[in-house]
Amino acid sequence: MPSTATPRPAADSTGVQDVPFLRGGAWSASTSTRRSPVFNPSTGEVIAQVPLCTAAEADAAIDAAAAAFPAWAETPAVERARVLFRYRELLQRDFERLAVTVTREHGKTLVEARASVQRGIEVVEFACGTPSLLMGQTLANLARGVDAETVRHPLGVCAGITPFNFPAMVPLWMFPVALACGNTFVLKPSEKVPLSANLLAELLVEAGCPAGVFNVVHGDREVVDRLLTHPLVQAVSFVGSTPIAKYIYETGTRNGKRVQAAGGAKNHLVIMPDADLDQAVAALQASAFGCAGERCMAGSVALSVGGASDPLVERLVDRASKMTVGPTDGGAAVDMGPLITAEHRDRVASYLDVGAGEGAKVALDGRRGAPERGFFVRPSVIDHVRPEMRVATEEIFGPVLSVVRVESLEEALAVGHASPYGNGASIFTQSGRAAREFKHHFNAGMIGINIGVPAPMAWFPFTGWNQSFFGDLHIQGTESIQFYTRQKTTMTRWFDRPGDAAHDPVWRQR
Ligand code: NAD
Repeated sequence: MPSTATPRPAADSTGVQDVPFLRGGAWSASTSTRRSPVFNPSTGEVIAQVPLCTAAEADAAIDAAAAAFPAWAETPAVERARVLFRYRELLQRDFERLAVTVTREHGKTLVEARASVQRGIEVVEFACGTPSLLMGQTLANLARGVDAETVRHPLGVCAGITPFNFPAMVPLWMFPVALACGNTFVLKPSEKVPLSANLLAELLVEAGCPAGVFNVVHGDREVVDRLLTHPLVQAVSFVGSTPIAKYIYETGTRNGKRVQAAGGAKNHLVIMPDADLDQAVAALQASAFGCAGERCMAGSVALSVGGASDPLVERLVDRASKMTVGPTDGGAAVDMGPLITAEHRDRVASYLDVGAGEGAKVALDGRRGAPERGFFVRPSVIDHVRPEMRVATEEIFGPVLSVVRVESLEEALAVGHASPYGNGASIFTQSGRAAREFKHHFNAGMIGINIGVPAPMAWFPFTGWNQSFFGDLHIQGTESIQFYTRQKTTMTRWFDRPGDAAHDPVWRQR
């Protein structure tokens, strides 16, 4: 039975909850016969069953969003923004509950979860300013007696498809801006982390978002394909791995939709011989092992320039081996949590054999000493990696850092140019000239200078390049306003009539 009440998911005989979905302001249990387990990666326990909703349920959510669109689009932008102002207060009120939910279903530490929720709230704050950001342009007297103006209009129903690694932040990258611009929205969160998305939805309903304006449908490819092909969906925002991003972009655009699709990455960290080694090592450690390496902006290849490679690797291994790794939901503070699933843990761990098999040296083996319960790999460092090796070119998405020793900045730039990806890259140096050369020439869309994770905050676009992004307008910043609106240009001429005062205005007589 659909219900508008706050979701209290049904539990089976073992106490495992069945995750409801939100359509037209009502929470329902899916009629799908397919379910997928949601784990607490810290323990390996199943904490919920998420329905893999049917295409018919996706259709119903899209229909609800389409029905809600005309009234929402006509709601003054300042009133829409007020819903987001209230939403921001509720997100702040339930900040800790959100962070705990993120930690529980994803496994990142509470400190990391809090930071990610904060980044998401900042997008809501950005969206609160949408009335100003939606303003168009005008030019009086474009031709004699003719004025011109552009006005931004919403698109209609927009869809968002999100990955597992930032269960609250990445959905918040999308729908607050889409809604503020006057669109309605259907979110398809990762089936691995559906609980944070439901909590975000619950708070948005409490903030006064009208029924149907925001909908959440859980599922896999069946729902995604419906979102990509349904004639009422106007735009699709996607964040996830590169092969799926490419599929989303190609299928969505073939079906006439506007698409922005952010993909995977292999990010490079260049350490120049003049870098402050302590600062660089601390930044490398945080970049490669923060969020257990499950970040699209995680540094995963260190390009060590010149002679400092031995001390760099030595200090890195020393610091990484001292990191506390363990369950993140138990109250004890740890530096790093688990990976998302057992399959992913095994895949990440297998890269240590891949690297060794290719002739690299495993300087720190994260399989050793990892907690047995839950899905853990400890920080790992692979040294003497050559640029063409798989551990230097493929996205591992875990706490594994490959160290490639190069002779010069030019060689480091060449490694970057050979990469099919282009999300982030950082340089550690005290030379302005080297930093400028790097900033200007490195083949990536987000650059850090003495910063390990150069991820832009809400007010700037998330400018991935190459196979890290498919589309034209990026997520976040003013590009997101452009993405979620279309412009209308109006040319106006009013004819003078004999006897009108305007026919002979005072200023013309001067
Ligand atoms: P994923 O591509 O497996 O899944 C992302 C979304 O696509 C999920 O909602 C999933 O249900 C759906 N999906 C998966 N397979 C599908 C298929 N065959 N057809 C249709 N839909 C499908 O990604 P993930 O494992 O959840 O997330 C990790 C990836 O996301 C990494 O590659 C990471 O780099 C990337 N990522 C990129 C950014 C960025 O801004 N560029 C940010 C975060 C994560």
